[in-house]
Order: sequence, then structure tokens, then C-alpha cells
Amino acid sequence: MTTSPNTPALAIRDLTKRYGKTLAVDNITLTIPQGQFFGFLGPNGAGKSTTIHCTTGISTFTEGAIEVYGYDVQSQYRQARRQIGLSPQEFNVDIFAPLWKILDYMGGYYGMPGYDRGERIKELLKRFELEQHAQKPFGQLSGGLKRRAILARALMHDPQLLVLDEPTAGVDVELRLELWEYLRGLNKEGKTIFFTSHYLEEVQQLCERCVIIVDGTIVADDSMKNLTKGGRLEDTYLKFTRDAKNREKVGKK
Ligand code: ADP
Ligand code: MG
Repeated sequence: MTTSPNTPALAIRDLTKRYGKTLAVDNITLTIPQGQFFGFLGPNGAGKSTTIHCTTGISTFTEGAIEVYGYDVQSQYRQARRQIGLSPQEFNVDIFAPLWKILDYMGGYYGMPGYDRGERIKELLKRFELEQHAQKPFGQLSGGLKRRAILARALMHDPQLLVLDEPTAGVDVELRLELWEYLRGLNKEGKTIFFTSHYLEEVQQLCERCVIIVDGTIVADDSMKNLTKGGRLEDTYLKFTRDAKNREKVGKK
């Protein structure tokens, strides 16, 4: 399988994921074209992180298929994973390791030679204005700097698809605006962005298309323009999530 400009950045087909008796993702199908700034929304426990975990190989699945830039995440795991830069919901780093080392480790994981790693680290530290923090242990960075550092780490191997699981959670307004500018810049350069957030006004500002997922099921998939129709995304979101919950209640009676 080779990647052409028409190959979807992400193609999820009939994905179902259970954790024991919990049905976390219930038969979802979703295709994201290259270069799209895509929003994945839903209440807590809807299945957003699970979908991301199945895509990035953190979780296994037995029903359905996922391809990233044409590579199957199960049978071509290494190539598929190589296309993805992940900013996870929970920080998974050694808090005692200095920032540069965290970046260096990620480059090593993807087989980048030492010289290339060094050059890439310099470039990313500059881009995210982290140069003066390179020697500091990750745990000593402020919340906003941690988010930037994780974004830099996700970009270390220059992936095409950025998967950002609540990258602005708990970040104050100013720092969020700053992160938006970084994300917009990356998207302009051609990166596909898979974005989850609970800040709906932020999603409305950034994303060109959204999928809303409730209890593992997709309840809306449309362009931002159609979802908002000049109004607020939050209103549309609440309508879809409430309707879905009501249908469920009726179904259970
Ligand atoms: P979201 O990211 O949308 O908040 P998640 O994907 O984290 O939702 O969770 C979806 C469902 O799967 C929830 O019911 C959650 O409790 C369950 N779940 C998620 N991860 C695990 C796990 N590792 N083990 C058991 N259940 C899990
Ligand atoms: Mg989550």
C-alpha cells in the first residue's frame, strides 16, 4: 500500500472495542482526509480516548480496521505508528528527565540518527520557545510549558497526523491562545490534526469538521459550517448529546 494525496489520513471502519463488559466504542466508521483540522467531541466516557488508543496501538481491538495514511495499524503497525504524533490525555513521561532528553528518546524510538535528533531538537525547542527550559526536568515545567513540550515531542519524528487528546485541558486562556497559533501553523504546513477538547468555543475556532460521539456511537459528523449555521457549536453539541441520551432512555424502557 502506498500513500497518495487521496489516501485518507485516518480511516476507521466498523471499529468496536470492549473492555470486559464495557462497550467503549460501538461500531464506528470515520474517514479523515489529509490536511483536515478535525474535531472529535463527546462527553466524558464517550469513547474518544479509546478510539485514539486503538489508532495508536495503546489498545488492541478485534472488531473493525484502522488505517493511517494507508497503513493498517495492526498488520503494518510500525509504518502506521510512524505517521502519528500523539499528545496523550495523560502525560506519560519520566518527570525527572530533562526536556531535551525526552525529545531525544522519542527520536531514538523512531530510529533517527544522533545528528538528526540533535538538529530536530534544536528546531523544535526554537519553534515552541522552549530553549531556556531544555535542561530542566519535565516535572519542574509549568502546565503550559508541559503542553508545549508534549507537542514538541509528538512532532519529533515529523509525523503527518497529529493526534491531540485534550491538549488544552487545564491550560489558562492566554496559553491556550498560544497553543492554537502553534496548531494553526502546523495545519497550514499540511499536518492533519485530530483534536479532542471539551472547550467548544475553541473547537469552533479551530476545526473545519467535527464528529460527536456519545456512548461509543457517532451521533453527528458534519462540517463546522453546517453544525453551527452561524450560531454556537455548544448549542448544536448539547442538542445532539441530549437527543442521544433521551433515545437511550426510551430504548431501555
Ligand atoms: P473519553 O475519552 O471519551 O472520555 P474513554 O475512551 O476514556 O472516553 O472511555 C470510554 C469507556 O471505556 C468508559 O466507559 C471508560 O470507563 C471505559 N474505559 C476506558 N479505558 C478503559 C480501560 N483501560 N479499562 C476499562 N474500561 C475502560
Ligand atoms: Mg478521554
